[in-house]
Amino acid sequence: MAKVVLENVYKFYPGHIPAVQDASLEIQDQEFVVLVGPSGCGKSTTLRMIAGLEEISKGNIYIDGKKINEVPPKDRDLAMVFQNYALYPHMTVYKNMAFGLKLRRYPKDEIEKRVHHAAEMLDIKDLIHRRPKALSGGQRQRVAVGRAIVRKPKAFLFDEPLSNLDAKMRVQMRTEISKLHGRLSSTMIYVTHDQVEAMTMGDRIVVMKDGIIQQVATPMNLYNQPANQFVASFIGSPPMNLFQGCIVEKKNGLVFDEGHFSICIEDIHRSILTSYTGKEIVFGIRPEDLYDASGVSNANLDNQIKARVEVVEPMGAEVFLYLNTGTHSFVARMDAHEKECRGQELTLSLNIKKSHFFDKETGACIGL
Ligand code: ADP
Repeated sequence: MAKVVLENVYKFYPGHIPAVQDASLEIQDQEFVVLVGPSGCGKSTTLRMIAGLEEISKGNIYIDGKKINEVPPKDRDLAMVFQNYALYPHMTVYKNMAFGLKLRRYPKDEIEKRVHHAAEMLDIKDLIHRRPKALSGGQRQRVAVGRAIVRKPKAFLFDEPLSNLDAKMRVQMRTEISKLHGRLSSTMIYVTHDQVEAMTMGDRIVVMKDGIIQQVATPMNLYNQPANQFVASFIGSPPMNLFQGCIVEKKNGLVFDEGHFSICIEDIHRSILTSYTGKEIVFGIRPEDLYDASGVSNANLDNQIKARVEVVEPMGAEVFLYLNTGTHSFVARMDAHEKECRGQELTLSLNIKKSHFFDKETGACIGL
């Protein structure tokens, strides 16, 4: 159990732009925090600095209030689970799990108790006499997690642990790690490039880009109130639709004008958008906040988009429609019973209350 604090942390690799810049973060005891972002954004470097596998160039890291910048990895009492499992091929599952405890000279019966307990928790009891090569990818990853559990570390660090698994196994292991977090009540810091993993597993998510933390928030807060255009388009699948346009003053009030469609600015946004009158901004709307306007009586024709369906992707319970206004592609997410087909012209209404507006220059959410 541990609270982990990063204070203005930087990492400079020789000859490169900073891999991590001014990262400050407070991870609470027993919290499950996910670091997410595209490849190369500095997630692993951040995790490895916490683990002590990379030196901190500038700033401080504290575990339970103690500065650990100079503490060697073995003395930080953290357990790391890697993408490639890092199992010893010549050892059985039992020996792989017991190895760390043996090195630390734990008594034999304590080792046995811990390994059996972890094996039971992870449902790998029947495999403990096998070697890693006789295991599937998912089973190997369980052993790697088991090896971490037996140590009863202060915190677990996961570096893309599910990336080598097939899609079905990834989903299964995802829920198992979440359940494990519930059972162990440990601090867990988890790195992934997969926003679905981040959304489904994290108590809080840290979104990174180019070595810089963009936003730290709960999954739903990130989704509903993205701090900037990057977070808005990174979190959510399909991603948020973004349209460039201009804020103009018309006789019926303030309007976002895209060229092909226009949107009346609601009261809640009016005061913050007035200062953007005459300027270009970016309007964002999530695919599920668009709906087929046919049959819906809507006197306000301003808030509608006309577009042609280019691709229909049935997902089972719902359908993704890829549409084009003539100049701009976007996606709508609808119930599967809707009968739209390729080539059809559609008029879409928007759930204006779910609109997002971003500064075109900085990408920052306007008004957040
Ligand atoms: P992520 O985990 O988000 O994919 P990394 O933390 O691995 O990103 O890398 C962040 C940046 O640091 C990348 O630009 C990467 O090329 C660079 N980097 C990572 N490790 C090293 C290293 N050992 N030497 C030099 N540059 C590195």
